[in-house]
Amino acid sequence: MAIHITIHDVSPAWSREVESAIDLARAYGIRPALLVVPNFHGSAPLAEDPQFCARLRQLQAEGHEMYLHGFYHRARTWEEHASVHEARGFTSRARYAFAQKVVSGGEAEFSDVSRAEGLQRLDSGERVLRDAGLSIRGFVAPAWSMPAWVLGVLGERGYSFTEDHTRIYDPRANRSRVSVVLNYASRTPSRLLSSVAWCRVARSARRLLPARIAIHPADMRHALLRSEIASLLEWAQDDVVNSGSDLFS
Ligand SMILES: [Zn+2]
Repeated sequence: MAIHITIHDVSPAWSREVESAIDLARAYGIRPALLVVPNFHGSAPLAEDPQFCARLRQLQAEGHEMYLHGFYHRARTWEEHASVHEARGFTSRARYAFAQKVVSGGEAEFSDVSRAEGLQRLDSGERVLRDAGLSIRGFVAPAWSMPAWVLGVLGERGYSFTEDHTRIYDPRANRSRVSVVLNYASRTPSRLLSSVAWCRVARSARRLLPARIAIHPADMRHALLRSEIASLLEWAQDDVVNSGSDLFS
């Protein structure tokens, strides 16, 4: 089955690690889709880095697809979340902590915004990427976490690719398909090792399902993950498609 490769969190904040991930993929003849964050954590605005934008245009011309990946790639802090949602008490705090800290490390931006705010971030994000000269070929929510309304909006806007943890979607055509995702977690040593184990096991799902390999810039800081990813890319290379949409065919 087809396999699609992405590099997450493409931002001036991670420019060195993004370049090493691109180099690694190129060693196997692979041009991953790049998930571009317009203003990573509110401190790395793409619009203010013309050199990085020029590099992205060059990569696009070389065949890398560009996907919009949230806007800030960060959920609100508990204090911000509590004031917006008027949340009080232990239960709401525990729910917030579980969704943001345990599951996503505080990165699940689209799980924590109202529809109006989400639309505004989509508008601003699309503007930043277009102003940078990039054509947007898909949308991926940070931490693959998006409320159901996002799919409808992406369909209205003509997006033909998005994904979450378990499925890939063509919002424009209103179809989706189950797909396995292989990615690594490097936040703690135990997560790192369990994600390595998971990816080794999940390889076997490739016979049944279209697969995705997601490379995070932080992975490049760990020698173990660099070599795991290299072996994953070598294993995948004959079936790699450059466009997420090709996972449907
Ligand atoms: Zn991300």
